[in-house]
Amino acid sequence: MALIDGKAVSAAVKEKVRCEAEGLKAQGIHIGLAVIIVGDDPASRVYVNNKKKACQAVGFDSYEYALPAETTQTELLELVSKLNADKNVDGILCQLPLPRHIDENAIINAIDPAKDVDAFHPQNVGHIMIGDYAFLPCTPAGVMELIASTGVEVKGKNCVVIGRSNIVGKPMAMLLLHEHGTVTITHSRTVDLPRITRNADILVAAVGKANFVTADMIKEGAVVIDVGMNRNAEGKLCGDVDFEGCKDKASYITPVPGGVGPMTIAMLMKNTLTAAKMHNGIN
Ligand code: NAP
Repeated sequence: MALIDGKAVSAAVKEKVRCEAEGLKAQGIHIGLAVIIVGDDPASRVYVNNKKKACQAVGFDSYEYALPAETTQTELLELVSKLNADKNVDGILCQLPLPRHIDENAIINAIDPAKDVDAFHPQNVGHIMIGDYAFLPCTPAGVMELIASTGVEVKGKNCVVIGRSNIVGKPMAMLLLHEHGTVTITHSRTVDLPRITRNADILVAAVGKANFVTADMIKEGAVVIDVGMNRNAEGKLCGDVDFEGCKDKASYITPVPGGVGPMTIAMLMKNTLTAAKMHNGIN
């Protein structure tokens, strides 16, 4: 088994972004990312802090909008509209989940697609489906970078994605398909999941259940990518894959933490750079 080092791969992506951002700064172009957080969910706070730190590391300006949990949908829409018009802001990210009284789709749909660095806006989702897109869906694109880092070609491989969320599972399947994988998407209603996963040369788990993927579910020599971010009974961060059980059977496997997690933020930085280039007419 070889470990896929998400920290190293993400550092390389961020370094490339930092170099390009430095070049743009020399031309007077400053890159700005606005991050909105509503309420005081501790996990969201950690994610937002990490995104701010990443901005600092690559030389972007970050603008945080920390709003109270009782913020109304109208107030949030007003802020999005203000940021859409703000020339200093190249990317807008609204940390999910939002409080229940706010319709997440209404907020996602209100973000200018040219500033939608999470690539959640239906217009950008459509571009991803077609395979002609500027903004990468951050987590799935990060997974593709990790697979590429192994040297294993996706073309012709049996790829199985566990999970069909709009954020991870569905765009993940699209990216694998664009790379000519033969893709199966599985979900909670899938019958006999292990029979399908045992056929996977490349298995991506995005379920949200600790230790869900066990050694008997994977093929000998499979590439196993663990998107899951869960807390186990002891409160420790863990993925969807039983790492200890699977590591000797997989050819390559991602750890949690230190696998997919750092990639998501690196791809967000890449998207923000892309947005800034688009806004300044640079290809
Ligand atoms: P989600 O919206 O809850 O989706 C989970 C998916 O898993 C659903 O499609 C669900 O099927 C499927 N599922 C649930 N139980 C199953 C079962 N027994 N068998 C097969 N499929 C099953 O979660 P998500 O947003 O995609 O996130 C998934 C995991 O990735 C979470 O742990 C999340 O924290 C993590 N995540 C990590 C990053 C990162 O940067 N590393 C980014 C995003 C998400 P149904 O559709 O049928 O319900």
